[in-house]
Amino acid sequence: MSLVLHDTWSRSLRPFVPLRPGPVGLYCCGPTVYDHAHIGNLRTYVFEDLLRRVLEFGGHEVRHVVNITDVGHLVSDADEGEDKMEKGSRRAGESAWAIAERFTAAFRADWRALNLREPAEWPRATDHIPEQLAFIAELERKGFTYRTADGIYFDTSKQDDYGHLARLDKAGLRAGQRVAMGDKREATDFALWKFSPPGAQRQMEWDSPWGRGFPGWHIECSAMSARYLGPWFDIHCGGEDHIGVHHSNEIAQTQACHGTRLANFWLHGHFLTLDDDLKMSKSDGDFVRLQTLVDRGIDPLAYRYLCLGAHYRSSLRFNEAAIAGAQSALDRLRRAYAGWPEGGAADASFVARFRAEVEQDLNLPRGLAVLWELVRSDLPAPTRRATADVFEAVLGLGLAEWREEGDAVPEAIAALAQERLEARSAGDWARADRLREDLRAQGWQVEDGAAGPRLSRGRW
Ligand code: AMP
Ligand code: ZN
Repeated sequence: MSLVLHDTWSRSLRPFVPLRPGPVGLYCCGPTVYDHAHIGNLRTYVFEDLLRRVLEFGGHEVRHVVNITDVGHLVSDADEGEDKMEKGSRRAGESAWAIAERFTAAFRADWRALNLREPAEWPRATDHIPEQLAFIAELERKGFTYRTADGIYFDTSKQDDYGHLARLDKAGLRAGQRVAMGDKREATDFALWKFSPPGAQRQMEWDSPWGRGFPGWHIECSAMSARYLGPWFDIHCGGEDHIGVHHSNEIAQTQACHGTRLANFWLHGHFLTLDDDLKMSKSDGDFVRLQTLVDRGIDPLAYRYLCLGAHYRSSLRFNEAAIAGAQSALDRLRRAYAGWPEGGAADASFVARFRAEVEQDLNLPRGLAVLWELVRSDLPAPTRRATADVFEAVLGLGLAEWREEGDAVPEAIAALAQERLEARSAGDWARADRLREDLRAQGWQVEDGAAGPRLSRGRW
């Protein structure tokens, strides 16, 4: 296989070669679960799913780890302000623990609706406090930390190449000095452990050798990636906003503790942007999420299709026309596919062309173009079907599962509703709620009336 990927560390395209035999290690920074994910966040996870699928398409086994940030991500990247979880908790009127559960479940429902492959691990920051404490203690032992009134900080002056990933100009930053400093010695220094405010009890806090408090945001990823993938693994991903602070800090910590820059490849997805009349910021409360699209009659897989149509290293502008176009293109594809009988064999030359495109730094827009060429080709229909089936391992558009809908409830939806009914009869409320979320994510609502549950379409 000849997969080539763009590595942010070297700012170049490099042939991908696994570090060692066995599964390829892939770590992706996951959601901060104080609210739903917006469609911008989801674009990044679609990109990471495509990366994983292309690796698997090339015959690699992948060990995919996605963390759940349920503590320590502060409102500002400069270690100031409130923990997003505590803020979310106040807004929702529920405990920080309860919203973490609820939004993790909602996130995983979005994940399934977008046909993203399930990671091997979903480690939560709050389940890995001992690993984070041990990591900080090691950094302290090696002389990379100092204490201020509000926490234990990482001393970035100890590393000449701090910020290399972002090509950061430390001298320029110092001269600008517009970053909120608190007691930090350098603008780029960052919190490893924050103390609980004096006299106040946080909802999430733990004892530590330095005082009661909670971990900084970056340490969880260094500690959990080391635990699940080792301190030197193949690929680390996230959105482009992570290059400057979060990933630079993960590298600084791991460099100091283990002497590696975590991952051999660093890949970053560019942002989804919205037309002015739509909002994305989670802090606004009212923003576009997957359910917003479903409520407007858009299939989650049409959003996936939209993401496939733009290269992950270019920004993608979202608006109504773009998503409506994606929906109608997907509908046309589905109808074409549904008309092709089974029983053919894949066309080797189309498969080779598709492979060449997706293995060239995940060029999915060109991969989709090959698919459309296949649709319009004069190859026998069973051959087209078998060839599309091969592409589907990467595209994940669910072509084989799709059925033209009449007014009737589709089989898959009826089956989910039935499963939910059984979970309820068994008193397994958590599972029943999860299934209700799954149904909702696919545009169906369940009402439990006297005559039993009734399924209805969302507002579309
Ligand atoms: P968060 O839940 O804020 O920690 O972010 C989750 C993921 O979404 C991270 O990988 C971010 O880099 C990514 N992200 C945030 N905003 C956008 C956006 N507008 N477009 C694409 N990815 C984004
Ligand atoms: Zn991270």
